[in-house]
Amino acid sequence: MNAIKCDRCGNYFDCNQLRLRGGSCSGESFGHISVRGENNHCCNYDLCDDCVKQFFDFMHDTSKIVGGESDI
Ligand SMILES: [Zn+2]
Repeated sequence: MNAIKCDRCGNYFDCNQLRLRGGSCSGESFGHISVRGENNHCCNYDLCDDCVKQFFDFMHDTSKIVGGESDI
């Protein structure tokens, strides 16, 4: 088991079930976010599926994800 800890809510999960829809990243799992400036890489965050959904909710862009428990 390779549990990942969600950096937002602290939940442990094995892997993300959600997938990104469309574009060049179609079919990729989502859950790892990199934060960086224009030139410098800063840090990475892991997000569980719940927080992924809330993130896309926040961005008003839930059409970008498919799979998991999501009913979209
Ligand atoms: Zn989470």
